[in-house]
Amino acid sequence: MRAEFEARLSCCRDLPSPPGIAMQILAMAQDPDVVMSTAADTIGLDVALTARMLRIANSPLYASRRRVDNLSQALTLLGLNATLTLALGFSLTSGLRPSGHGEAPCEEKVWRRSVISALASRLLGQRLGLHKLEELMLAGLLQDIGALVLLQLEPDAYRRILDDAPGAEELLMRERDSFGCDHAEIGQWMARNWNLPVLLQNAIGASESPVSETPFDACVAVSGYIAELWFNEDTGTVRDLAMAQAHTRLGVDRESFDGVIEQMTMVLPDIAAMFDIRISQPERISAMLEQARELLVLRNLREIQDASRARKDADESASRVRQLAEEVRRDPLTGVYNRAQLEQVLKKEFEAATRHGWPLSIAFIDLDDFKQINDRWGHQVGDQVLRKFAQTLQQRLRGSDIVARYGGEEFLAVLPGTGERAALAVIQRILSEVSAIAMVQLEDVALHITFSAGLATQGSVERFASAEQLLKAADEALYGAKREGRNRVAAGNIRS
Ligand code: GH3
Ligand code: MG
Ligand code: MG
Repeated sequence: MRAEFEARLSCCRDLPSPPGIAMQILAMAQDPDVVMSTAADTIGLDVALTARMLRIANSPLYASRRRVDNLSQALTLLGLNATLTLALGFSLTSGLRPSGHGEAPCEEKVWRRSVISALASRLLGQRLGLHKLEELMLAGLLQDIGALVLLQLEPDAYRRILDDAPGAEELLMRERDSFGCDHAEIGQWMARNWNLPVLLQNAIGASESPVSETPFDACVAVSGYIAELWFNEDTGTVRDLAMAQAHTRLGVDRESFDGVIEQMTMVLPDIAAMFDIRISQPERISAMLEQARELLVLRNLREIQDASRARKDADESASRVRQLAEEVRRDPLTGVYNRAQLEQVLKKEFEAATRHGWPLSIAFIDLDDFKQINDRWGHQVGDQVLRKFAQTLQQRLRGSDIVARYGGEEFLAVLPGTGERAALAVIQRILSEVSAIAMVQLEDVALHITFSAGLATQGSVERFASAEQLLKAADEALYGAKREGRNRVAAGNIRS
């Protein structure tokens, strides 16, 4: 601060000065021996102050389940330190403002802004879990005391600056240009002069700094940005600026920020009345909150969608893994199980059948004269026949039966729980159906095929030592069917 301005402040008789009661309260706040009853006696002398203390103790800021009816209850609820700090705030504001309706609009606007800032810095501090919430409120309240001093010393010049400055930074620059110091410095000087606690002096001094040294100072500085919401028409820009400040200085996220504003809109009417200030709630703030709530709903919705998308992706990749594993098991041409998979499945089924004593039949199936199809119609037509045959076989068996391509034009059907006679009937039925169906429809020819099959059954009649032995028996039966003229099904013990 320029020395000459400081000298002027020091000599000035018109400077706002705290009322006697505020000075007494301040003295009590700094006296370690003061007790609750002394505080109650002093505050109780001032009827208006007592009413305010009761009102704040019953306000949502001190959500008490019990109604506070008298000063002593209020003091007990609030505690000595909070009581004195709040009382100091009330007595300072009422003492510094002219009584009646003599206040100029400019001064009133400063006070309105101060009360809003007071609430904002308290609620920010509360969100962050800071202590000294009453001190935060008082610092918020007094942060613009320097502006009141300037209005008193240089009413016309400063009013012009207040009216014309487009933003907070511009205001500070113009103050410095005109007076050699800004309102925050003057406020700090005043706070020191009044012997307010150092914590408050510093917070007032730092209330317009771009960086804050403590979370306490940061709450006070950010509260000024929040208060702008009540004065500036351009809610979007002001809100973004305040939110950015709250985020960088205090780590407050968007949701908490909106929470603070929401709380403010609920408590402010009560607080404003306590400070004897008229603060109307601009419609645009409700609109802003409404929009914030909608955004939140949208965001929650999006999070739900993202989560379900992630789950779907996970499901998809799991099913892709299953699909790949399934592909490894299957013969690429026909889609039925390949030989490796067959060997596993057959082994398992053989063990289960042996263990539980239920029958297990297998049919070794070899297409008849398949080489001729290839030779006559080409390999591709041969492939189509293989595909169609495999599908037909699979479709005509039970879901629990297994079809595998053993190699070339040889297939194996595994029929768990099926005895020799039933298996024979099934494979014979399939043979007659397959031979009746065109495997491939060429332009003027319908290709039909037959097959030969050899059956073997692990059951009551024959007991095989292993799956390989069972397979060998089916192969032998097949060989018999071929030998006997093809287009037939041979079983170890029954001939068809
Ligand atoms: P049989 O009645 O004695 O079984 O006579 P066949 O001609 O069916 O038997 P052979 O074993 O002599 O011939 C099998 C033919 O199957 C020979 C081979 O070219 C053909 N083949 C094997 N695998 C495939 C395949 O993947 N695609 C095609 N198109 N033909 C195949
Ligand atoms: Mg063959
Ligand atoms: Mg063959």
